[in-house]
Amino acid sequence: MLSLKNYWQQVSQLFFPHLCMGCGSDIIALDALLCTRCYLQLPVTGFFNAANNPVEQSFYGRVPIAAAAAAFYFTKNALLQHLLFQLKYKGHQKTGIWLGKQVGYQIMNSPRFAPIDAVVPLPLHPKKQRLRGYNQAALIASGICSVIQQPLITHALTRTRFTQTQTKKNRAERWVNMEDAFTVVLPELLHNKHVVLVDDVITTGATLEACASALLAASVASVRIATVAYTI
Ligand SMILES: [Zn+2]
Repeated sequence: MLSLKNYWQQVSQLFFPHLCMGCGSDIIALDALLCTRCYLQLPVTGFFNAANNPVEQSFYGRVPIAAAAAAFYFTKNALLQHLLFQLKYKGHQKTGIWLGKQVGYQIMNSPRFAPIDAVVPLPLHPKKQRLRGYNQAALIASGICSVIQQPLITHALTRTRFTQTQTKKNRAERWVNMEDAFTVVLPELLHNKHVVLVDDVITTGATLEACASALLAASVASVRIATVAYTI
């Protein structure tokens, strides 16, 4: 027999169809973004439980982080790219929360991501955040917090320099460009805390490196890095 809740979910589905963001199917739970078939197609990396994974290796010799991982592989023209595009450029903020929850489940199952006292999203420059209306990393971080039940801290850190696009620069130039881009304005919020720093995608890691360095200089106990996607 249908419960009342299921009944109303099915009735509301008739008038306000809730469709899978992958295939458009309507066989989908009300709080889900994807049907089971599309969900199972997301390419999980397994990095959260793997020491020396490729994300961690990209920080070796650059900044002393306790652990780093991305939840999924980012491949061109794939479903994850579509979801991240909707989040960043189409105002689909729920996608950020949902992706954050998926990262949160992986953090919860990883002894390498403990202890954690605070979740900190990579800040956007205030100008960019005004243009977009939100920080996608903060939405992802909020999804993580809802799963791991730790506080979200969004205002301890600011981005102090507006950096131009990074894509045409080599690694050394990127580092110079990112230098001093982050300032910890309220260090007392993070003092002696084990912090997870969150972003949507990791490519070169230069931005996350600069941000992790700023956090460590402000005497946090440790920095771990968690992202939704890793570009190969
Ligand atoms: Zn689907």
